[in-house]
Amino acid sequence: MKRILALALAVLMVLSLAGCKKTPTVEQIQKDGKLVMLTNAAFPPFEYVENNEFVGVDVDIANEIAKDLGVELEVVNMDFDGIIDAVKSGKGSFGAAGITIKPDRQEKVDFSIEYVTSSQYLIIQKDSGITADQIPDLTIGVQAGTTGEFFCVDDNGMAEDQVKKYKTALEAANDLKNGRIDGVIIDQLPAESIVAQNDDLELIAEPLTEEKYAIAVQKGNDTLLEAINATLQRLMDEGKIDEYVLNHMGAAA
Ligand code: GLN
Repeated sequence: MKRILALALAVLMVLSLAGCKKTPTVEQIQKDGKLVMLTNAAFPPFEYVENNEFVGVDVDIANEIAKDLGVELEVVNMDFDGIIDAVKSGKGSFGAAGITIKPDRQEKVDFSIEYVTSSQYLIIQKDSGITADQIPDLTIGVQAGTTGEFFCVDDNGMAEDQVKKYKTALEAANDLKNGRIDGVIIDQLPAESIVAQNDDLELIAEPLTEEKYAIAVQKGNDTLLEAINATLQRLMDEGKIDEYVLNHMGAAA
C-alpha cells in the first residue's frame, strides 16, 4: 500500500512538473490552432480595449505573427506585473505589453528583437510649475512592476511612500487629477495618449530613461522566438509598426 502511494505521489509530481515546464513551441501552437498573447490592455496605443475588443500596436503585431503561423490569436488580459512570470511558467504563448528589455527579466524569459524605442516621461497637472529635477522630492504614481517604478525607486532612491503603485497608469492619472499625487511616470506614448485625453494634465517632454520594447517567450522556446523575430523584422522592413503607432495614437487621442 505504502509503495503504491509513493508511486502515485511520484507520478503526480512528475505530471505537475511537466505542467510547469510546458513549452508553447511552434509545433504545439499549430497543433492547438491558436496563439495566446498575454498582455495588460490599459496601455494605449500598445494595448487597450475599444468596443469590447482588445486592440493596439501589440495586438496588430500579434495578429501578424498568428497569420504567419496560420493560427488564430487569443488575447489574455492580466496585470502587467504578472506577465513575465506567466510567460515563464508557460501560461500563454508569449507576452507582448510594451515590455522593456531588462537584465532581471532576461533571467526569467527570452526576448525577441527590439521593435520600439521608448523612455519614461513625467505627467503633471497643468500649470503646476513642477520640473523633472524635482522628481526625487515628489509623490509619484507609477504602474506597479514597470520601469516607471524602477526609475523612481532604484535610480532615484525614492522612499516607498513617495512612489504610489497602481494597476494601470490610467488610475494613476485619475489620482493626479484629484491632486493625491504630484506626477505620474509612464512610458512616452501612453503618457502622450493620457495627456491628449485630459486637458488639465501636461507632459514634461524630457526623456527620463532609454528603453527598448521586445516580446517575451519562455526560455529556450527557440522555434517560437524565430517565428516572432521573422514577423517583427518583416513588419519593421515594411514600415508597418510606425503605421500601427500612428493609427492607434489617432484612435486614442
Ligand atoms: N515599458 C514598461 C515596462 O516594461 C511598461 C510596460 C507596461 O506598463 N505595459 O516596465
